[in-house]
Amino acid sequence: MIRLYNTKTRSKVDFESLTRGKVGMYVCGPTVYNYIHIGNARTFMSFDIVRRYLLWRGFDVTFVQNVTDVDDKIINKANEEGRSASEVAAEYTEAFIADMRAAGVMDPDIRPKATEEIPEMIELIEELIESGHAYAVEGDVYFNVRSYAAYGELSGRNVDEMESGHRELRADGAGLEDRKHDPLDFAVWKAAKPGEPSWASPWGEGRPGWHIECSAMSRKYLGLPFDIHGGGADLVFPHHENERAQSEAACGCTFANYWMHGGMLQVNSEKMSKSLGNFKLLRDVLETVDADTLRFLMLQTHYRSPLDFSDERLAEAGAALGRIRNAVKNLDWLVENAADAPSPLDLRALMERTREAKMAFILAMDDDFNTCKALGAVFDFIAEVNAQTAGKTISLSDVPPVRDARELIVGLMGVFGIEVATAGDADTAGADYPAEVVALAADIAGFDGSDAALAVGALLDARADARASKDWARADAVRDGLGALGFVIEDTPQGARVAFEG
Ligand code: AMP
Ligand code: ZN
Repeated sequence: MIRLYNTKTRSKVDFESLTRGKVGMYVCGPTVYNYIHIGNARTFMSFDIVRRYLLWRGFDVTFVQNVTDVDDKIINKANEEGRSASEVAAEYTEAFIADMRAAGVMDPDIRPKATEEIPEMIELIEELIESGHAYAVEGDVYFNVRSYAAYGELSGRNVDEMESGHRELRADGAGLEDRKHDPLDFAVWKAAKPGEPSWASPWGEGRPGWHIECSAMSRKYLGLPFDIHGGGADLVFPHHENERAQSEAACGCTFANYWMHGGMLQVNSEKMSKSLGNFKLLRDVLETVDADTLRFLMLQTHYRSPLDFSDERLAEAGAALGRIRNAVKNLDWLVENAADAPSPLDLRALMERTREAKMAFILAMDDDFNTCKALGAVFDFIAEVNAQTAGKTISLSDVPPVRDARELIVGLMGVFGIEVATAGDADTAGADYPAEVVALAADIAGFDGSDAALAVGALLDARADARASKDWARADAVRDGLGALGFVIEDTPQGARVAFEG
Protein backbone atom coordinates (compact mmCIF):
# COMPACT_ATOMS: atom_id res chain seq x y z
CA MET A 1 0.00 0.00 0.00
CA ILE A 2 1.38 3.35 -1.01
CA ARG A 3 1.14 6.02 1.64
CA LEU A 4 1.64 9.68 0.91
CA TYR A 5 1.64 12.94 2.77
CA ASN A 6 -1.52 14.88 2.01
CA THR A 7 -1.15 18.64 2.52
CA LYS A 8 -4.92 18.92 3.02
CA THR A 9 -4.95 16.71 6.12
CA ARG A 10 -1.33 17.41 7.10
CA SER A 11 -0.77 13.70 7.56
CA LYS A 12 0.48 10.61 5.80
CA VAL A 13 -2.45 8.62 4.49
CA ASP A 14 -3.08 5.47 2.46
CA PHE A 15 -3.30 6.20 -1.23
CA GLU A 16 -6.45 4.86 -2.82
CA SER A 17 -7.08 5.94 -6.37
CA LEU A 18 -10.61 6.84 -7.43
CA THR A 19 -10.60 4.19 -10.14
CA ARG A 20 -8.80 0.95 -9.44
CA GLY A 21 -5.48 0.84 -11.23
CA LYS A 22 -5.75 4.36 -12.61
CA VAL A 23 -4.33 7.66 -11.36
CA GLY A 24 -5.15 11.17 -12.55
CA MET A 25 -2.45 13.72 -11.67
CA TYR A 26 -2.28 17.44 -12.26
CA VAL A 27 0.95 19.33 -11.62
CA CYS A 28 1.01 23.10 -12.15
CA GLY A 29 3.40 24.02 -14.94
CA PRO A 30 5.65 27.04 -15.39
CA THR A 31 4.89 30.62 -16.32
CA VAL A 32 6.85 30.89 -19.53
CA TYR A 33 8.75 34.17 -19.44
CA ASN A 34 12.26 32.86 -18.84
CA TYR A 35 14.31 29.66 -18.82
CA ILE A 36 13.54 27.50 -15.81
CA HIS A 37 16.02 27.29 -12.95
CA ILE A 38 16.99 24.17 -11.04
CA GLY A 39 14.54 25.07 -8.26
CA ASN A 40 11.65 24.78 -10.72
CA ALA A 41 13.32 21.68 -12.11
CA ARG A 42 13.40 20.08 -8.67
CA THR A 43 9.63 20.26 -8.35
CA PHE A 44 9.09 18.91 -11.87
CA MET A 45 11.64 16.14 -11.31
CA SER A 46 10.03 15.16 -8.00
CA PHE A 47 6.66 14.69 -9.65
CA ASP A 48 8.32 12.87 -12.53
CA ILE A 49 9.63 10.37 -9.97
CA VAL A 50 6.19 10.05 -8.36
CA ARG A 51 4.70 9.41 -11.78
CA ARG A 52 7.38 6.91 -12.81
CA TYR A 53 7.04 5.03 -9.54
CA LEU A 54 3.25 4.82 -9.86
CA LEU A 55 3.71 3.52 -13.41
CA TRP A 56 6.22 0.94 -12.20
CA ARG A 57 3.77 -0.15 -9.50
CA GLY A 58 1.29 -0.85 -12.28
CA PHE A 59 -0.96 2.22 -12.29
CA ASP A 60 -2.21 3.66 -15.51
CA VAL A 61 -1.29 7.31 -14.86
CA THR A 62 -2.73 10.29 -16.71
CA PHE A 63 -0.41 13.20 -16.09
CA VAL A 64 -1.59 16.71 -16.95
CA GLN A 65 0.63 19.77 -16.76
CA ASN A 66 -0.41 23.20 -17.96
CA VAL A 67 1.70 25.98 -19.39
CA THR A 68 0.83 29.46 -18.12
CA ASP A 69 1.35 31.43 -21.30
CA VAL A 70 -0.54 34.59 -20.40
CA ASP A 71 0.56 36.51 -17.32
CA ASP A 72 1.84 39.91 -16.14
CA LYS A 73 5.43 38.66 -16.13
CA ILE A 74 5.20 37.58 -19.76
CA ILE A 75 3.61 40.88 -20.75
CA ASN A 76 6.31 42.86 -18.90
CA LYS A 77 9.08 40.87 -20.55
CA ALA A 78 7.48 41.38 -23.97
CA ASN A 79 7.25 45.13 -23.36
CA GLU A 80 10.89 45.28 -22.25
CA GLU A 81 11.99 43.47 -25.37
CA GLY A 82 9.62 45.21 -27.74
CA ARG A 83 7.91 42.06 -28.97
CA SER A 84 4.56 40.42 -28.48
CA ALA A 85 3.62 38.43 -25.40
CA SER A 86 2.75 35.43 -27.55
CA GLU A 87 6.24 35.47 -29.09
CA VAL A 88 7.86 35.50 -25.64
CA ALA A 89 5.56 32.73 -24.42
CA ALA A 90 6.16 30.57 -27.49
CA GLU A 91 9.93 30.87 -27.16
CA TYR A 92 10.02 29.89 -23.49
CA THR A 93 7.42 27.17 -23.85
CA GLU A 94 9.65 25.51 -26.40
CA ALA A 95 12.69 26.03 -24.19
CA PHE A 96 10.85 24.56 -21.22
CA ILE A 97 9.92 21.42 -23.15
CA ALA A 98 13.51 21.03 -24.40
CA ASP A 99 14.92 21.54 -20.89
CA MET A 100 12.57 19.00 -19.35
CA ARG A 101 13.49 16.42 -21.97
CA ALA A 102 17.19 17.11 -21.45
CA ALA A 103 16.65 16.51 -17.73
CA GLY A 104 15.04 13.14 -18.42
CA VAL A 105 11.57 14.27 -17.31
CA MET A 106 8.82 12.43 -19.16
CA ASP A 107 6.50 14.54 -21.31
CA PRO A 108 3.07 14.97 -19.71
CA ASP A 109 0.24 13.02 -21.32
CA ILE A 110 -1.56 16.32 -21.83
CA ARG A 111 0.07 19.76 -21.85
CA PRO A 112 -2.68 22.37 -22.20
CA LYS A 113 -1.80 26.01 -22.75
CA ALA A 114 -3.83 28.64 -20.93
CA THR A 115 -4.36 30.72 -24.07
CA GLU A 116 -5.95 27.74 -25.82
CA GLU A 117 -8.45 27.09 -23.02
CA ILE A 118 -10.07 30.50 -22.62
CA PRO A 119 -13.65 29.35 -23.48
CA GLU A 120 -13.44 26.69 -20.75
CA MET A 121 -12.33 29.33 -18.25
CA ILE A 122 -15.13 31.70 -19.24
CA GLU A 123 -17.62 28.87 -18.84
CA LEU A 124 -16.34 28.11 -15.34
CA ILE A 125 -16.48 31.79 -14.36
CA GLU A 126 -20.09 32.00 -15.62
CA GLU A 127 -20.99 29.03 -13.45
CA LEU A 128 -19.39 30.72 -10.46
CA ILE A 129 -21.34 33.92 -11.08
CA GLU A 130 -24.62 32.04 -11.54
CA SER A 131 -24.15 30.18 -8.27
CA GLY A 132 -23.28 33.34 -6.35
CA HIS A 133 -19.58 32.50 -5.85
CA ALA A 134 -18.29 35.28 -8.10
CA TYR A 135 -19.36 38.77 -9.19
CA ALA A 136 -18.47 41.11 -12.00
CA VAL A 137 -17.39 44.73 -11.45
CA GLU A 138 -16.67 46.91 -14.46
CA GLY A 139 -15.03 44.25 -16.58
CA ASP A 140 -13.32 42.42 -13.72
CA VAL A 141 -14.71 39.31 -12.06
CA TYR A 142 -13.92 38.40 -8.44
CA PHE A 143 -14.31 35.21 -6.49
CA ASN A 144 -16.32 35.66 -3.34
CA VAL A 145 -14.05 33.98 -0.80
CA ARG A 146 -16.56 33.92 2.05
CA SER A 147 -19.07 32.07 -0.13
CA TYR A 148 -16.90 28.95 0.07
CA ALA A 149 -16.90 27.66 3.65
CA ALA A 150 -13.73 25.55 3.41
CA TYR A 151 -11.54 28.46 2.30
CA GLY A 152 -8.21 28.34 4.17
CA GLU A 153 -8.43 24.63 4.97
CA LEU A 154 -5.76 23.54 2.49
CA SER A 155 -3.14 26.02 3.67
CA GLY A 156 -4.23 25.90 7.30
CA ARG A 157 -5.35 29.53 7.45
CA ASN A 158 -8.29 31.02 9.24
CA VAL A 159 -10.28 33.35 7.03
CA ASP A 160 -11.18 35.69 9.86
CA GLU A 161 -7.54 36.14 10.82
CA MET A 162 -6.39 36.49 7.26
CA GLU A 163 -5.03 39.76 6.12
CA SER A 164 -5.83 40.45 2.51
CA GLY A 165 -3.40 38.22 0.68
CA HIS A 166 -4.73 39.37 -2.64
CA ARG A 167 -3.81 42.99 -2.89
CA GLU A 168 -3.72 43.53 -6.59
CA LEU A 169 -3.66 46.47 -8.86
CA ARG A 170 -6.17 46.86 -11.59
CA ALA A 171 -4.81 46.86 -15.08
CA ASP A 172 -5.15 50.66 -15.18
CA GLY A 173 -3.22 50.99 -11.92
CA ALA A 174 -6.17 51.94 -9.72
CA GLY A 175 -6.56 50.12 -6.41
CA LEU A 176 -8.88 47.17 -6.40
CA GLU A 177 -9.87 47.30 -2.81
CA ASP A 178 -12.80 49.64 -3.45
CA ARG A 179 -14.31 47.38 -6.10
CA LYS A 180 -14.07 44.11 -4.23
CA HIS A 181 -16.89 43.27 -1.89
CA ASP A 182 -14.33 41.89 0.53
CA PRO A 183 -10.55 42.43 0.60
CA LEU A 184 -10.07 38.65 0.59
CA ASP A 185 -11.77 38.25 -2.79
CA PHE A 186 -9.48 37.61 -5.73
CA ALA A 187 -9.72 38.18 -9.48
CA VAL A 188 -10.77 35.36 -11.77
CA TRP A 189 -11.05 37.63 -14.81
CA LYS A 190 -9.21 40.91 -15.41
CA ALA A 191 -10.44 43.70 -17.68
CA ALA A 192 -8.05 44.36 -20.55
CA LYS A 193 -5.54 47.17 -20.61
CA PRO A 194 -4.70 48.63 -24.04
CA GLY A 195 -1.94 46.75 -25.78
CA GLU A 196 -2.26 43.62 -23.66
CA PRO A 197 -3.39 40.26 -24.95
CA SER A 198 -7.13 39.95 -24.38
CA TRP A 199 -10.13 37.85 -25.24
CA ALA A 200 -13.81 38.69 -25.65
CA SER A 201 -15.97 37.66 -22.71
CA PRO A 202 -19.44 38.37 -21.30
CA TRP A 203 -17.71 41.02 -19.13
CA GLY A 204 -15.88 42.69 -22.00
CA GLU A 205 -12.34 42.24 -23.32
CA GLY A 206 -10.02 40.78 -20.75
CA ARG A 207 -7.85 37.90 -19.64
CA PRO A 208 -8.13 35.15 -17.06
CA GLY A 209 -6.60 35.23 -13.59
CA TRP A 210 -3.85 32.68 -12.97
CA HIS A 211 -5.78 30.44 -10.59
CA ILE A 212 -8.80 29.93 -12.82
CA GLU A 213 -6.58 28.39 -15.49
CA CYS A 214 -5.69 25.33 -13.48
CA SER A 215 -9.28 24.92 -12.26
CA ALA A 216 -10.58 24.91 -15.82
CA MET A 217 -7.86 22.73 -17.34
CA SER A 218 -7.77 20.08 -14.63
CA ARG A 219 -11.53 19.57 -14.73
CA LYS A 220 -11.53 19.43 -18.52
CA TYR A 221 -8.76 16.86 -18.83
CA LEU A 222 -9.16 14.80 -15.66
CA GLY A 223 -12.74 15.40 -14.53
CA LEU A 224 -13.60 16.07 -10.89
CA PRO A 225 -12.61 14.82 -8.50
CA PHE A 226 -9.19 13.59 -9.56
CA ASP A 227 -6.51 11.84 -7.55
CA ILE A 228 -3.37 13.91 -7.05
CA HIS A 229 -2.71 17.61 -7.36
CA GLY A 230 0.92 18.66 -7.09
CA GLY A 231 3.24 21.62 -7.14
CA GLY A 232 5.97 23.31 -5.13
CA ALA A 233 5.20 24.22 -1.51
CA ASP A 234 5.20 27.90 -2.47
CA LEU A 235 2.01 27.30 -4.45
CA VAL A 236 -0.12 26.13 -1.48
CA PHE A 237 -1.21 29.69 -0.82
CA PRO A 238 -2.73 31.49 -2.54
CA HIS A 239 -2.61 29.52 -5.80
CA HIS A 240 -3.84 26.09 -4.71
CA GLU A 241 -6.16 27.44 -2.03
CA ASN A 242 -7.82 29.54 -4.74
CA GLU A 243 -7.88 26.77 -7.35
CA ARG A 244 -9.59 24.53 -4.85
CA ALA A 245 -12.09 27.18 -3.77
CA GLN A 246 -13.13 27.93 -7.35
CA SER A 247 -13.34 24.29 -8.38
CA GLU A 248 -15.20 23.03 -5.34
CA ALA A 249 -17.55 26.02 -5.26
CA ALA A 250 -18.48 25.43 -8.90
CA CYS A 251 -18.98 21.68 -8.78
CA GLY A 252 -20.09 21.17 -5.20
CA CYS A 253 -17.70 18.22 -5.07
CA THR A 254 -14.14 17.47 -4.03
CA PHE A 255 -11.50 18.91 -6.36
CA ALA A 256 -8.44 16.72 -5.72
CA ASN A 257 -8.25 13.87 -3.23
CA TYR A 258 -4.54 14.20 -2.46
CA TRP A 259 -2.44 17.36 -2.43
CA MET A 260 1.31 16.86 -2.71
CA HIS A 261 3.82 19.66 -2.33
CA GLY A 262 7.55 19.58 -2.92
CA GLY A 263 10.12 21.35 -0.73
CA MET A 264 12.15 24.23 -2.03
CA LEU A 265 15.57 23.97 -3.54
CA GLN A 266 17.77 26.50 -1.79
CA VAL A 267 21.22 27.99 -1.91
CA ASN A 268 22.84 28.85 1.43
CA SER A 269 19.49 28.13 3.10
CA GLU A 270 17.67 30.65 0.91
CA LYS A 271 15.02 29.70 -1.62
CA MET A 272 16.30 29.73 -5.17
CA SER A 273 14.18 32.22 -7.08
CA LYS A 274 14.27 34.49 -10.04
CA SER A 275 13.52 37.52 -7.89
CA LEU A 276 16.40 36.87 -5.44
CA GLY A 277 18.79 36.44 -8.35
CA ASN A 278 20.43 33.39 -6.71
CA PHE A 279 19.35 31.00 -9.43
CA LYS A 280 21.12 28.62 -11.75
CA LEU A 281 19.37 27.79 -14.97
CA LEU A 282 18.70 24.12 -15.57
CA ARG A 283 20.22 24.34 -19.04
CA ASP A 284 23.45 25.83 -17.67
CA VAL A 285 23.79 23.09 -15.05
CA LEU A 286 23.19 20.43 -17.69
CA GLU A 287 26.11 21.87 -19.65
CA THR A 288 28.40 20.82 -16.81
CA VAL A 289 26.92 17.54 -15.58
CA ASP A 290 24.75 14.86 -17.13
CA ALA A 291 21.06 14.75 -16.28
CA ASP A 292 21.47 11.49 -14.36
CA THR A 293 23.84 13.16 -11.91
CA LEU A 294 21.42 16.02 -11.31
CA ARG A 295 18.54 13.56 -10.88
CA PHE A 296 20.64 11.56 -8.45
CA LEU A 297 21.34 14.68 -6.40
CA MET A 298 17.60 15.41 -6.23
CA LEU A 299 16.85 11.84 -5.09
CA GLN A 300 19.26 12.10 -2.18
CA THR A 301 16.82 14.43 -0.40
CA HIS A 302 13.20 13.53 0.34
CA TYR A 303 10.93 15.50 -1.99
CA ARG A 304 9.22 17.37 0.87
CA SER A 305 12.43 18.51 2.58
CA PRO A 306 14.36 21.59 1.59
CA LEU A 307 17.31 20.72 -0.64
CA ASP A 308 20.51 22.73 -0.35
CA PHE A 309 22.14 22.87 -3.73
CA SER A 310 25.89 23.24 -4.11
CA ASP A 311 28.56 22.24 -6.58
CA GLU A 312 30.11 20.03 -3.89
CA ARG A 313 26.86 18.10 -3.51
CA LEU A 314 26.65 17.77 -7.25
CA ALA A 315 30.17 16.32 -7.36
CA GLU A 316 29.30 13.92 -4.52
CA ALA A 317 26.22 12.81 -6.40
CA GLY A 318 28.36 12.14 -9.47
CA ALA A 319 30.77 10.03 -7.41
CA ALA A 320 27.96 8.03 -5.78
CA LEU A 321 26.33 7.39 -9.12
CA GLY A 322 29.74 6.28 -10.42
CA ARG A 323 29.87 3.68 -7.64
CA ILE A 324 26.58 2.19 -8.80
CA ARG A 325 27.75 2.15 -12.41
CA ASN A 326 30.99 0.46 -11.40
CA ALA A 327 29.07 -2.17 -9.46
CA VAL A 328 27.05 -2.96 -12.57
CA LYS A 329 30.21 -3.08 -14.61
CA ASN A 330 31.77 -5.51 -12.12
CA LEU A 331 28.75 -7.79 -12.42
CA ASP A 332 28.92 -7.61 -16.21
CA TRP A 333 32.56 -8.63 -16.04
CA LEU A 334 31.74 -11.57 -13.77
CA VAL A 335 29.06 -12.80 -16.15
CA GLU A 336 31.26 -12.41 -19.21
CA ASN A 337 34.15 -14.24 -17.58
CA ALA A 338 32.26 -17.04 -15.87
CA ALA A 339 34.31 -20.26 -15.79
CA ASP A 340 33.43 -23.89 -16.06
CA ALA A 341 34.34 -24.44 -12.42
CA PRO A 342 32.63 -24.97 -9.05
CA SER A 343 30.70 -22.00 -7.68
CA PRO A 344 32.57 -19.81 -5.19
CA LEU A 345 29.34 -18.02 -4.18
CA ASP A 346 26.70 -18.53 -1.52
CA LEU A 347 23.94 -18.60 -4.10
CA ARG A 348 21.08 -18.99 -1.66
CA ALA A 349 22.19 -15.85 0.20
CA LEU A 350 22.63 -13.91 -3.02
CA MET A 351 19.14 -14.78 -4.27
CA GLU A 352 17.64 -14.01 -0.89
CA ARG A 353 19.36 -10.63 -0.79
CA THR A 354 18.19 -9.80 -4.31
CA ARG A 355 14.61 -10.42 -3.25
CA GLU A 356 15.03 -8.47 -0.02
CA ALA A 357 16.65 -5.52 -1.77
CA LYS A 358 13.69 -5.17 -4.09
CA MET A 359 11.30 -5.33 -1.12
CA ALA A 360 13.31 -2.73 0.78
CA PHE A 361 13.18 -0.43 -2.24
CA ILE A 362 9.42 -0.83 -2.57
CA LEU A 363 8.80 -0.30 1.15
CA ALA A 364 10.86 2.90 1.07
CA MET A 365 9.11 4.27 -1.99
CA ASP A 366 5.66 3.21 -0.77
CA ASP A 367 6.34 5.33 2.32
CA ASP A 368 5.68 8.74 0.76
CA PHE A 369 8.23 8.24 -2.02
CA ASN A 370 11.25 8.05 0.25
CA THR A 371 13.87 8.12 -2.49
CA CYS A 372 16.86 8.56 -0.17
CA LYS A 373 15.92 5.42 1.74
CA ALA A 374 15.31 3.59 -1.53
CA LEU A 375 18.80 4.59 -2.71
CA GLY A 376 20.11 3.31 0.61
CA ALA A 377 18.56 -0.07 -0.19
CA VAL A 378 20.37 -0.10 -3.54
CA PHE A 379 23.71 0.79 -1.91
CA ASP A 380 23.30 -1.85 0.83
CA PHE A 381 22.63 -4.42 -1.84
CA ILE A 382 25.67 -3.37 -3.84
CA ALA A 383 27.88 -3.63 -0.75
CA GLU A 384 26.68 -7.18 -0.13
CA VAL A 385 27.08 -8.26 -3.74
CA ASN A 386 30.58 -6.77 -3.78
CA ALA A 387 31.48 -8.57 -0.57
CA GLN A 388 30.31 -11.87 -2.04
CA THR A 389 31.98 -11.55 -5.39
CA ALA A 390 35.19 -9.57 -4.77
CA GLY A 391 38.21 -11.23 -6.31
CA LYS A 392 36.23 -14.23 -7.51
CA THR A 393 35.56 -15.79 -10.85
CA ILE A 394 32.02 -17.11 -10.87
CA SER A 395 30.96 -20.41 -12.32
CA LEU A 396 28.63 -20.77 -15.29
CA SER A 397 25.86 -21.91 -12.96
CA ASP A 398 26.16 -18.62 -11.05
CA VAL A 399 25.36 -16.58 -14.12
CA PRO A 400 21.54 -16.43 -13.77
CA PRO A 401 21.46 -15.18 -10.14
CA VAL A 402 24.36 -12.78 -10.74
CA ARG A 403 22.56 -11.48 -13.78
CA ASP A 404 19.38 -11.10 -11.68
CA ALA A 405 21.33 -9.03 -9.16
CA ARG A 406 22.65 -6.85 -11.98
CA GLU A 407 19.20 -6.49 -13.55
CA LEU A 408 17.75 -5.45 -10.20
CA ILE A 409 20.25 -2.63 -9.76
CA VAL A 410 19.72 -1.44 -13.33
CA GLY A 411 15.94 -1.82 -13.05
CA LEU A 412 15.57 0.02 -9.73
CA MET A 413 17.67 2.94 -10.92
CA GLY A 414 15.61 2.85 -14.11
CA VAL A 415 12.52 3.55 -11.99
CA PHE A 416 14.20 6.88 -11.24
CA GLY A 417 14.91 7.41 -14.92
CA ILE A 418 18.63 6.89 -14.33
CA GLU A 419 20.74 4.74 -16.64
CA VAL A 420 23.47 2.82 -14.83
CA ALA A 421 24.28 0.09 -17.33
CA THR A 422 27.25 0.75 -19.52
CA ALA A 423 28.12 -1.17 -22.62
CA GLY A 424 31.57 -2.03 -23.87
CA ASP A 425 34.83 -3.69 -23.01
CA ALA A 426 34.33 -5.08 -19.55
CA ASP A 427 37.83 -4.66 -18.11
CA THR A 428 38.04 -0.92 -18.57
CA ALA A 429 35.31 0.68 -20.64
CA GLY A 430 32.23 2.39 -19.40
CA ALA A 431 33.09 2.80 -15.74
CA ASP A 432 33.20 6.26 -14.30
CA TYR A 433 36.92 6.76 -13.83
CA PRO A 434 38.03 10.07 -12.40
CA ALA A 435 39.89 12.36 -14.77
CA GLU A 436 43.05 11.88 -12.66
CA VAL A 437 43.67 8.47 -14.23
CA VAL A 438 44.66 10.21 -17.46
CA ALA A 439 47.50 12.07 -15.71
CA LEU A 440 48.50 8.90 -13.89
CA ALA A 441 48.67 6.95 -17.15
CA ALA A 442 50.65 9.75 -18.80
CA ASP A 443 53.10 9.63 -15.90
CA ILE A 444 53.60 5.90 -15.59
CA ALA A 445 52.66 4.50 -18.98
CA GLY A 446 53.48 7.35 -21.35
CA PHE A 447 49.79 7.53 -22.28
CA ASP A 448 49.01 10.55 -24.47
CA GLY A 449 45.24 10.27 -24.91
CA SER A 450 42.44 11.91 -22.97
CA ASP A 451 39.94 9.06 -22.54
CA ALA A 452 39.87 7.80 -18.95
CA ALA A 453 38.90 4.23 -19.84
CA LEU A 454 41.74 3.99 -22.36
CA ALA A 455 44.09 5.42 -19.75
CA VAL A 456 43.13 2.63 -17.34
CA GLY A 457 43.79 0.11 -20.12
CA ALA A 458 47.23 1.62 -20.69
CA LEU A 459 47.96 1.41 -16.97
CA LEU A 460 47.00 -2.27 -16.87
CA ASP A 461 49.19 -2.97 -19.89
CA ALA A 462 52.12 -1.11 -18.31
CA ARG A 463 51.68 -3.13 -15.15
CA ALA A 464 51.64 -6.40 -17.08
CA ASP A 465 54.85 -5.38 -18.89
CA ALA A 466 56.48 -4.31 -15.64
CA ARG A 467 55.63 -7.61 -13.98
CA ALA A 468 56.88 -9.57 -16.97
CA SER A 469 60.22 -7.77 -16.72
CA LYS A 470 60.20 -8.01 -12.91
CA ASP A 471 60.07 -4.19 -12.59
CA TRP A 472 58.18 -4.43 -9.30
CA ALA A 473 58.53 -0.74 -8.49
CA ARG A 474 56.69 0.24 -11.68
CA ALA A 475 54.03 -2.43 -11.18
CA ASP A 476 53.46 -1.18 -7.63
CA ALA A 477 53.29 2.42 -8.86
CA VAL A 478 50.34 1.47 -11.06
CA ARG A 479 48.62 -0.35 -8.21
CA ASP A 480 49.23 2.43 -5.68
CA GLY A 481 48.29 5.17 -8.13
CA LEU A 482 44.94 3.54 -8.88
CA GLY A 483 44.52 2.70 -5.20
CA ALA A 484 44.83 6.38 -4.29
CA LEU A 485 41.90 7.05 -6.63
CA GLY A 486 39.77 4.38 -4.96
CA PHE A 487 40.35 1.49 -7.36
CA VAL A 488 41.81 -1.96 -6.82
CA ILE A 489 43.44 -4.19 -9.40
CA GLU A 490 42.13 -7.72 -9.31
CA ASP A 491 44.18 -10.46 -10.90
CA THR A 492 41.96 -13.13 -12.33
CA PRO A 493 42.55 -16.12 -14.58
CA GLN A 494 41.33 -13.93 -17.45
CA GLY A 495 43.87 -11.21 -16.72
CA ALA A 496 43.95 -8.08 -14.56
CA ARG A 497 40.95 -5.85 -14.14
CA VAL A 498 40.14 -2.71 -12.25
CA ALA A 499 37.33 -2.60 -9.72
CA PHE A 500 36.05 0.13 -7.51
CA GLU A 501 36.85 -0.48 -3.88
CA GLY A 502 33.54 0.84 -2.43
P1 AMP B 1 6.62 29.27 -11.44
O1 AMP B 1 7.01 29.29 -12.89
O2 AMP B 1 7.26 30.33 -10.62
O3 AMP B 1 5.11 29.18 -11.24
O4 AMP B 1 7.23 27.91 -10.83
C1 AMP B 1 7.02 26.67 -11.43
C2 AMP B 1 7.16 25.60 -10.37
O5 AMP B 1 8.45 25.65 -9.76
C3 AMP B 1 6.15 25.69 -9.23
O6 AMP B 1 5.65 24.38 -8.94
C4 AMP B 1 6.96 26.21 -8.07
O7 AMP B 1 6.45 25.75 -6.84
C5 AMP B 1 8.31 25.60 -8.36
N1 AMP B 1 9.44 26.30 -7.73
C6 AMP B 1 9.77 27.62 -7.83
N2 AMP B 1 10.91 27.88 -7.13
C7 AMP B 1 11.30 26.71 -6.57
C8 AMP B 1 12.40 26.31 -5.72
N3 AMP B 1 13.34 27.17 -5.32
N4 AMP B 1 12.46 25.00 -5.35
C9 AMP B 1 11.53 24.10 -5.74
N5 AMP B 1 10.48 24.43 -6.54
C10 AMP B 1 10.37 25.70 -6.95
ZN1 ZN C 1 -2.06 25.62 -10.83
